Amino acid sequence: MAEEIRISELLEAVTTRLAEVSESPRLDAEILLGRAIDMPRSYLFAHPEDVPDEAAVERFERTVARRLAGEPMAYIMGMREFWSMELMVSPATLVPRPETEILVDRALGVIPRRAVYRVLDLGTGSGAIALAIARERPLCRVVAIDVSADALAVAAQNARQLELGNIEFHQGDWTDPVRTETFDVIVSNPPYVRQADPALDSLRHEPTGALAAGPDGLDEIRRLAKLCRDVIAPGAPLLVEHGADQEDDVRGILSAHDWVEIECHKDYAGLPRVTVARSPKAHAPQDET
Ligand code: GLN
Repeated sequence: MAEEIRISELLEAVTTRLAEVSESPRLDAEILLGRAIDMPRSYLFAHPEDVPDEAAVERFERTVARRLAGEPMAYIMGMREFWSMELMVSPATLVPRPETEILVDRALGVIPRRAVYRVLDLGTGSGAIALAIARERPLCRVVAIDVSADALAVAAQNARQLELGNIEFHQGDWTDPVRTETFDVIVSNPPYVRQADPALDSLRHEPTGALAAGPDGLDEIRRLAKLCRDVIAPGAPLLVEHGADQEDDVRGILSAHDWVEIECHKDYAGLPRVTVARSPKAHAPQDET
């Protein structure tokens, strides 16, 4: 007969092992064990003496092995919380980051509560940003684009789950699917990591295409600065997330494409991470002479 191991002992042993790969090993162990025994985490605290059955321990060990191999918790659980929404995620989508909530917050800051705006989210991934805006601004119509059909399937599933009807999804390269339209706000969390950045190794479970963007990480932001000019209303804002050390470069790229009123906002860690710029207002008609 297999050895009988109590919940408290399982958690302790696995927490020690996970400490090598995780900054929250105890929490990860609790979440994974809760899932393996199909009980909420609170059950673990109330019943530390329980002995899970062999099948549950095996399920637990399988997920612990994935975590030890560096897989993000969000992929193992198949979900991540963002802007108080439970979002489905898959390896086709980036795991939504807490700092991206700053982008949502800034976007809501430029969309009045009763505005009936057309909002464009470029590179939507799991749909995190687009869904948060669609939910907070039900009168707006949100268009979300991604180049990956697999990512869009996840985003569309999230929209159904949240019962959001004011959002639509298109597959394509940045603004390609909406070239004849005009938007009142454009948001994007594009890839912006340098292709040789050693950090990419620790992010290897996530789609490289959603992370890396050329030698200086700015290739896609350069393309966006140009492409968005053709689909944005005069004087309307573009909000883009970028790396903490890219503030000046992003400002330079945007002003080279005639964006104005360029302002950078800090994330919760005080790092400059979201730049907002406006397209130039239409020129006043010239007097006939
Ligand atoms: N913020 C991500 C990171 O952890 C990068 C996201 C992106 O490239 N859009 O590096």
